[in-house]
Amino acid sequence: MLGLNNAVTEKNNFYGNTDPIKLVEKYGSPLYVYNETIFRERCRELKNLVTYKNFSVNYSVKANGNLSLLKIAKEEGLNADAMSPGEIYVEELAGFKPEDILYISNNVSAEEMQFAIDRDITISVDSLSQLEMYGKLNTGGKICIRFNPGVGAGHHEKVVTGGKKTKFGVAIEDIPVVKDILKTYNLNLIGINQHIGSLFMDGDKYIEGAQSILSIAKNFDDLEFIDMGGGFGIPYKKLSSEPRLDLQHLGKELDKVLHQFAEEYGKEVTFKIEPGRYISAECGVLLGEVHSIKENYGITYVGTDIGFNVLKRPVMYDSHHDIEVYRKDNIPSKNSHPVTLVGNICESGDILAQDRLLPQIMEKDIIGVLDSGAYGYCMASNYNNRLRPAEVLIDSQGNDRLVRRRDTYEDLVRNFDI
Ligand SMILES: *Cc1c(COP(=O)(O)O)cnc(C)c1O
Repeated sequence: MLGLNNAVTEKNNFYGNTDPIKLVEKYGSPLYVYNETIFRERCRELKNLVTYKNFSVNYSVKANGNLSLLKIAKEEGLNADAMSPGEIYVEELAGFKPEDILYISNNVSAEEMQFAIDRDITISVDSLSQLEMYGKLNTGGKICIRFNPGVGAGHHEKVVTGGKKTKFGVAIEDIPVVKDILKTYNLNLIGINQHIGSLFMDGDKYIEGAQSILSIAKNFDDLEFIDMGGGFGIPYKKLSSEPRLDLQHLGKELDKVLHQFAEEYGKEVTFKIEPGRYISAECGVLLGEVHSIKENYGITYVGTDIGFNVLKRPVMYDSHHDIEVYRKDNIPSKNSHPVTLVGNICESGDILAQDRLLPQIMEKDIIGVLDSGAYGYCMASNYNNRLRPAEVLIDSQGNDRLVRRRDTYEDLVRNFDI
């Protein structure tokens, strides 16, 4: 196999005992490939972020809810966040216990709330009206509230989830009303949380955010935990040597803040973080096949089977993913060209990478879309009645194993009355 532009997966021995060409021959294309060793490393890095003792890493499984990965996260001692009853269901299957799960709800129905109450899973509510709903359903129960500190951060406006212009959290000025509702329904506020946005690369922003939630915490006497949110970024531009988030610096600074707060608060609260992307993004590469190459009005289009039904991030968030190229035959590319990589969906916006300088690409080449392990498969759809791809795990021994089969045509019609 000839690898072009493939320094990243070569360096971390991403494909173990196999290679991308063999994987596509064996499992078909497109194909999500996950590397267990990298996934475990990320879990461990965050588990060891601080020295503060009562510290919990709640994996935000919406980033990648593959059952095999969830089981590994559980093995690594992580807890889990859920955004829906469906996520709770899958987390329980993976072995997470009710006390390992925090249900961060957003505009949910009474039935969905009841689903968590029945299982004794802690719920974080997102508004005064949902706090009241909870109070009626579970008077005298324990509750967590998501606050919006009025500041946000993130790589794209669609992922900024704190600040004055987002739908999330309870505003600080509503704290007196919160207290009234808690009293009315005899609720015990055991935790507060926030999540101000996704993909920060500057740890100081996170510290600032942590300080805001800690200052909110001082309004409440009896908290068991404070959850500072996720959003830990990863370098998507590895080929241009984008630096990593400085976890060591972040951990050191965070540690100081946490110890100081615990001392002032006079109680050993548990601190939680809720990372999604940081845990799973870099363990994933999405493989796809080049079906056509054409030149239209001066632009070279490389046509692949990776439409936005398979990977939505570039279309949804204008995201950049580095691209590797793998070739079965040992024919070298003569030079590099700027090309636009597109998928097979009937929409002009179906663009994976625009104007990207890549080694000359040939038909039948396999491309690898790096850092696709977060918000990849989980956002895939059957749009255009395409089949969602399979997922494969390269285990710690370097062996490949199917961890979710590709959709079949029968899957497309399963819910019809036929
Ligand atoms: C999505 C989400 C996260 C995880 O965000 P990442 O950027 O993937 O770390 C954490 N908390 C909440 C409430 C979320 O909605």
